[in-house]
Amino acid sequence: MGLKKGFPLLGVIGGLYVISKLADANDKAKERRDDENERLRKDLREQQRREKQEREEMIRRQAEAERRAEREKEDLRRRMEQQSMREKAAMQQQIDALYEQKNRVRISRKCPFCSAPLSGFKGESIRCRYCDSEQVL
Ligand SMILES: [Zn+2]
Repeated sequence: MGLKKGFPLLGVIGGLYVISKLADANDKAKERRDDENERLRKDLREQQRREKQEREEMIRRQAEAERRAEREKEDLRRRMEQQSMREKAAMQQQIDALYEQKNRVRISRKCPFCSAPLSGFKGESIRCRYCDSEQVL
């Protein structure tokens, strides 16, 4: 205060100096705020970029899972078809066997070795119970 009283000019200069220092400090604070804002904007952009990437990745994975499920479904459908085709073939064989059985000719005759009576279906291989010889009827 004494300084200000004795040397008013110096007081004014001091005041200006203080004001300019305050302005400097103010500028620096503003700079810091700007830097901080810029940093926050960058962080936000980075975060938005990451979120977009994650969304795209999720969509990609979802599509991949759907394609996989579709392939599995197709595979199962094909296997089911083959399965039913095999089952149909097996049933047809059973039907054919039943037809054959129905059409089989029953034959009775005497064993050519021991004259024991033999009976069976035509074309069937049979073993005589008495002389143990094997023959085709
Ligand atoms: Zn015999």
